[in-house]
Amino acid sequence: MKPRPALPPGPYLVVGLARSGIAAAEMLTPYGEVIGADSGEPRGDTAGFEAHDHTDGLELLDRVQTVVKSPGVPKEAPVIAAAHERGLGVVGELELAWRLMPNEFVAVTGTNGKTTTVELLGEIHRAAGIPVLVAGNVGTALASLASLAGRADPAAVVVCECSSFQLEDTEHFAPECAVLLNVAEDHLDRHGTLEDYRAAKLRVFANQGPDDVAVVPGGFDPPGQGRVVGFDAGAWELRLRGAHNHENAMAATAAALARGVPAEAVQRGLAEFPGVEHRLEEVAERGGVLYVNDSKATNPASARVAVEAFAGGIHLILGGSLKGGSYEELRAPVRERAAGVYLIGEAAERLREEVGGEVVGDLASAVEAARVAAAPGDVVLLSPACASFDQYENFEARGRHFKELVLA
Ligand code: ADP
Repeated sequence: MKPRPALPPGPYLVVGLARSGIAAAEMLTPYGEVIGADSGEPRGDTAGFEAHDHTDGLELLDRVQTVVKSPGVPKEAPVIAAAHERGLGVVGELELAWRLMPNEFVAVTGTNGKTTTVELLGEIHRAAGIPVLVAGNVGTALASLASLAGRADPAAVVVCECSSFQLEDTEHFAPECAVLLNVAEDHLDRHGTLEDYRAAKLRVFANQGPDDVAVVPGGFDPPGQGRVVGFDAGAWELRLRGAHNHENAMAATAAALARGVPAEAVQRGLAEFPGVEHRLEEVAERGGVLYVNDSKATNPASARVAVEAFAGGIHLILGGSLKGGSYEELRAPVRERAAGVYLIGEAAERLREEVGGEVVGDLASAVEAARVAAAPGDVVLLSPACASFDQYENFEARGRHFKELVLA
């Protein structure tokens, strides 16, 4: 195992009490006093530590030495700025959990495809009989694997999904293998510029040493000292649809082979992987029309690859909340392949201007309009290109609602 730095000193103030923050707080309780703060209601069980709701946390800073910032908290938040001013340490859950875990780490980042690639790597390791723990969006927060209660098998490879928000709060994090899938425009509301966003993602490589592996799109030059392995799209036996999933498979393959997983297991893992819910998920075929739930497509690049995964006859449902950035890259593929476009939510008007289509308002009206218009052989595709927060709690709730509407 690579040596890990010790934890920064407590007491700790965990800012943001959703899944990641609560898991971090619980992980830290054996190591010092833990106080939690959330600007609204905590989302989950906070019984194990002192939790404060409806506060920016500023008044709690006097009591702590280290601030643990949840990925959902912007770096401009007053409590973070004040912590820096006072010279307190500010770190994230990913960094802390990594410091507590002796495991080999494979970290996956990129704008799109992280969950799919992480789950693919899980399947590949299982096919090889190598113990593996998958952490990220779908399953468990890394901190809950690291906490004493959930003490992970130290021999297992930890495959973890790392968002730009988690990486921006790392300091010494140095995974044995780091994978960058792609960088497209997203989250400009939080990162300000594409450069800033890209810089956060590249932190995954920054502390790697010469024994580590950096898996990147072909031709990409990452920072750090890791051994660079490029991947390019190729032809693979996959159950997954779409050129983008071939890229994910290539990246997973490159990472697994570079870490010594046998090729035969890689092939078996790829062939058997069924895909992840809400990512080009085939819901049902009704009257010869295929209904596909891609609710996780929360930016234009991911909606674009979904459209490109079908030859034509697409009835596309787009829209949701606005987060800055343009939808223009969707115009050409939509013109080429869509038979109808149904626009919903806050972004509907802007999408109508930039991509075209008919404003229908909400998901129920969109599914109904698409159902009426679709002919046998067509596809009704929810791949909204937007986050869901204007009308839903999250993309999962939106995807589940779509499936209910289809099955009804
Ligand atoms: P993430 O965890 O990075 O959000 P997911 O695997 O959950 O990635 O996929 C998010 C969305 O992006 C889905 O709609 C999926 O179909 C699409 N997608 C998956 N892989 C890629 C890729 N390599 N490039 C572009 N879009 C992708």
